[in-house]
Amino acid sequence: MTHVAKQQRYDEMDYRRCGRSGLMLPAISLGMWHNFGDTAVFDHAREMILGAFDLGITHFDLANNYGPSAGSAETTMGKVLETDLSAYRDELVISTKAGYHMWPGPYGEWGSKKHLIASLEQSLRRLQLEYVDIFYHHRPDPETPMEETADALAQIVSDGKALYIGLSNYSVEQTAEMMVLLKERSVPLLIHQFSYSMLDQRNESLISYLKQNDVGSIAFSPLAQGLLTNRYLNGIPADSRVAGQSVFLTQASLTPQTMEKVSLLNELAKSRGQTLSEMALAWVLAKTTSVIIGASRLSQIADNCKTVERLSFTTVELAQIDKIIA
Ligand code: NDP
Repeated sequence: MTHVAKQQRYDEMDYRRCGRSGLMLPAISLGMWHNFGDTAVFDHAREMILGAFDLGITHFDLANNYGPSAGSAETTMGKVLETDLSAYRDELVISTKAGYHMWPGPYGEWGSKKHLIASLEQSLRRLQLEYVDIFYHHRPDPETPMEETADALAQIVSDGKALYIGLSNYSVEQTAEMMVLLKERSVPLLIHQFSYSMLDQRNESLISYLKQNDVGSIAFSPLAQGLLTNRYLNGIPADSRVAGQSVFLTQASLTPQTMEKVSLLNELAKSRGQTLSEMALAWVLAKTTSVIIGASRLSQIADNCKTVERLSFTTVELAQIDKIIA
């Protein structure tokens, strides 16, 4: 059934220009790495997607391998696009990626033309789309010549299978090299997607590089997979990522030092009249075009969208945060 989107969906969200491009992205984007695969309840996933759109989230981030099972998050999105959101395709920015292991054999991962072109064809079938808005190379490939990866990305754009190109998990040096190769092929680099949060500041120099070069920037896991929320303040909830099957966030991440930082940050957030997740997102958004949040329920998405009500920090607050996270 076609979804009737909320009339006021664009009133609250902050939309930001992505680098030196014509594309505006919402400050809050929704990622579908967890909780949208075929082990999740479809109606629940659908509720989150439609609810996010009603909150002004126009950008949905996927990858060929998101699930579990690999590919099933795209299938979920495809069903919702087909049945509920078909009238809204031109109001949506759908991203997908290829590069991590997706299928057996020598063509199922990395950065060859063979892998990238075939993977995007599969993604488009699962998404029931003719094109995606942003196609990312998900990780650099140390073996494939960068020229071949650049050729594949340029071909994808000229074939009309993606409107824009992004990179993910590339270093500053790799990004610089790929930007030159893409420019030679008349394809500007739209955006770079990298890990960044109050608990993970490894990509500071990448962020500066992107800013200097007018390339869009989008942070993944901006809440450190849930650590920078109220989720683990009083133990490990049974329905949390840590208590689930994730190998990416385990009990070992909840060290006393980390939890001490989280608790101090939570007090600071309260003094700003925000939740910890809102403050953590506002802090990342001071440096990036957008953040890609994950969620296990619509109420988390709604909370995170409130971030845009208070994005600024005083110099005193910034100094307090620096001291806590140092
Ligand atoms: P986050 O850091 O936003 O963590 C999301 C988790 O935090 C949720 O699943 C939920 O945990 C918890 N959470 C979120 N909001 C709230 C809230 N308001 N209150 C309480 N808890 C909250 O991001 P993810 O790690 O999920 O990554 C986001 C996206 O980034 C992915 O979906 C993917 O699109 C992208 N990504 C890209 C990568 C790449 O290599 N390019 C790598 C990793 C991610 P719980 O489930 O326990 O409720």
